[in-house]
Amino acid sequence: MTATTKIANPRDIAHNVMMLIDELNLQPTPQVYHVFYSYLTNEVPELSQLIKVLIRNTQELDEETVFRIYHKYLGTHALQQHINQGVEGLQAAVERVEEAVHTVMRDTEQFCNELDTASHRLLAEDITVEDARTVSRSLSDTTSKARGCFGSFNGNIEEYHNEVRRVRTELEMVRRDAMTDTLTGIANRKNFDTSLRDAVTTTMESGAPLSLLMIDIDHFKDFNDNFGHRAGDGVLKAVARVLVRSTKGADTVARYGGEEFAVILPDTSKENAEKLANKLRDNVSNQRIINKKTGKDFGKLTVSIGLTSYQLGENILEFVDRADNALYQAKQEGRNTCILH
Ligand code: GH3
Ligand code: MG
Ligand code: MG
Repeated sequence: MTATTKIANPRDIAHNVMMLIDELNLQPTPQVYHVFYSYLTNEVPELSQLIKVLIRNTQELDEETVFRIYHKYLGTHALQQHINQGVEGLQAAVERVEEAVHTVMRDTEQFCNELDTASHRLLAEDITVEDARTVSRSLSDTTSKARGCFGSFNGNIEEYHNEVRRVRTELEMVRRDAMTDTLTGIANRKNFDTSLRDAVTTTMESGAPLSLLMIDIDHFKDFNDNFGHRAGDGVLKAVARVLVRSTKGADTVARYGGEEFAVILPDTSKENAEKLANKLRDNVSNQRIINKKTGKDFGKLTVSIGLTSYQLGENILEFVDRADNALYQAKQEGRNTCILH
């Protein structure tokens, strides 16, 4: 599959992107997906060229390389440049619209003057048939001029709208990028802080329960020391995937920092959160960590979980601290467990 492949619609593109990611044995994180989507649609020619070369030598096309490509061509910096171009385009479009408005006002004024003159001439008592014909011809000329003028005005407004839509889409991409953890593709710490604030506000308004899980990988330092930092990164991604797969739409799964994750559970009582926490714990520990390329088995991995529910009236720090303390106790009590506070 190459960047020049003719692809009919976005659904086909999405399908081909996923096939390609699968063929290359990569994980379909948002960044990886974006890079190959961009490659297949030839959105950024330099990126397509580079990927084409790398695909010939799949050895070099690992996730780290894809992430570097993402940040170089599609990441916040690249998007910032798009935005700057978008804003310049927007300014030019606004200037064109201002000019068009000015022209339309001037033409409208002229049109009104011509109508006035025509009506005076038509009302004159001594008007001849020939005069009336002349007035009628001039009115018809003026009308078609006005039509042309309004037509081009509409064109300018449409162009302006397209520019606004384009800038809005790019701003949305920058916003999403700024809220995503680059390694795992899940919510980052900033996103967690915002989502938790929103969830607490909603709970204070509705009184609905809100639970929070703090999850920390057990003995992760040993894992890094034994198998290397890159294998460790792979594990962080695998754990993030398990957490995302085991939760539902309204929940926020975030990388809180390092090898620590957090899950915000709106509308979830402590009892239900505990069931979910134990399911997450089982799903992580039942997963065998295997290096896809070498087939090397890294053995089992476990997590410790601290759980708490929001108590009306408390501030966010107290809420998070309680979950943290529960996590600390889970570590003290031997790990691979979930403690409620
Ligand atoms: P505990 O069971 O008490 O949590 O032990 P631990 O070894 O998991 O905890 P500790 O806090 O001592 O070590 C955390 C390790 O997580 C140390 C650091 O190397 C690793 N780590 C943090 N962030 C990353 C990352 O982004 N990638 C990798 N590979 N490792 C990371
Ligand atoms: Mg740990
Ligand atoms: Mg830790």
